Amino acid sequence: MSQWQKYINPTVRDIPPSGIRRFFNLAAEMEGVISLGVGEPDFVTPWHIREACVYSLEKGYTTYTANQGLPLLREAVAEHLEQNYGVKYHPKDELLVTVGVSEALDLALRAVVVPGDEVLVPDPCYVSYTPCTALAGGVPVPIETRLEEDFQLTAERVEKAITPKTKALLLCYPNNPTGAILSKKNIEEITEVVKHHDLIVISDEIYDQLTYRGKHTCIASLPGMRDRTILLNGFSKAYAMTGWRVGYAAANPVFIEAMNKIHQYTMLCAPITAQMAAVEALKNGREKMQNMVQQYNRRRIMVVNALNEMGLPCFEPGGAFYAFPDIRPTGLTSEEFAEELLMETKVAVVPGNAFGKSGEGFVRCSYATSLEDLTEALKRMSRFVKKRLG
Ligand code: PLP
Repeated sequence: MSQWQKYINPTVRDIPPSGIRRFFNLAAEMEGVISLGVGEPDFVTPWHIREACVYSLEKGYTTYTANQGLPLLREAVAEHLEQNYGVKYHPKDELLVTVGVSEALDLALRAVVVPGDEVLVPDPCYVSYTPCTALAGGVPVPIETRLEEDFQLTAERVEKAITPKTKALLLCYPNNPTGAILSKKNIEEITEVVKHHDLIVISDEIYDQLTYRGKHTCIASLPGMRDRTILLNGFSKAYAMTGWRVGYAAANPVFIEAMNKIHQYTMLCAPITAQMAAVEALKNGREKMQNMVQQYNRRRIMVVNALNEMGLPCFEPGGAFYAFPDIRPTGLTSEEFAEELLMETKVAVVPGNAFGKSGEGFVRCSYATSLEDLTEALKRMSRFVKKRLG
């Protein structure tokens, strides 16, 4: 062990590196790899959004903005949330523009968690939730979700996981990595448990616009939940804007004020150019966004059918852009499957255990990949699986 390790905060030292990055790095060192690994749209940000940014630079928008974000963007976000979900947020003190949902998540956790607080997290879940909770001093408590139950989080399981130390429930629907959308019935029942135990909800709704069957219910729109929810959302997925680094949080002013305290000293503000582009995305981006969603939907159907046909039972995802096939029929673990697939066929997928214990036995395949690449990747996967199934 290096002599310098003793200087590293043990909480940081003990956090394993992201399972997604490990495979991404392995794949990056090989030639001719088709990556279904990273959750990133293959589309370039629509031109009118890029143009708005270029134009803002021409006009000299190169400064800091208010810590909370450009009033113009906060107004556009408020309008968007009211139109989509009927939930009103005041742009003055109930919205905070952040550097992606990533920053908003970190701020939300740091603003509410005190050491020892437990945060309930559905398992499998997005790779940041567990480490970010630990970095905030909290204790992540995974709640199993299962293929046999369509990866639904149930009120019963939430209730069972609650202890006197539980402070918050962290939600992500449509879900990364399973693609599940929480049914209206389940989400309603969960809100009853949350209210009964006086918990708050941190809801990461980054995939809310990417739905294909069933309807996404914004938890903040349910009775008594607006002030109990810190709603997180952004532009990375719906508008193909991962590199712009812009997102937002919507919540009761008490939460926004606390989050803004951290934000103002650590980030100061989100980049002004990205904020100008985000205004354009919200004002005029719907049509282009819906075009992308239609294309994801076509790929989704193709991928799910192909996976089932090759002998990997695949849950039909209702949202996001991931398929999460069951690879247990091959007799391999998630890591073995991903590693052997990469080495033998140069197709990169993410082992399900990177998303938590309940992800073991599955792999995540992103279909935010061109049809051509997807078709080739599925052919290679099919040959690989057939060999294992005999
Ligand atoms: N939340 C979820 C569920 C994600 O899948 C991702 C990225 O993959 C993020 C947040 C990160 O979002 P952003 O690019 O807005 O920081």
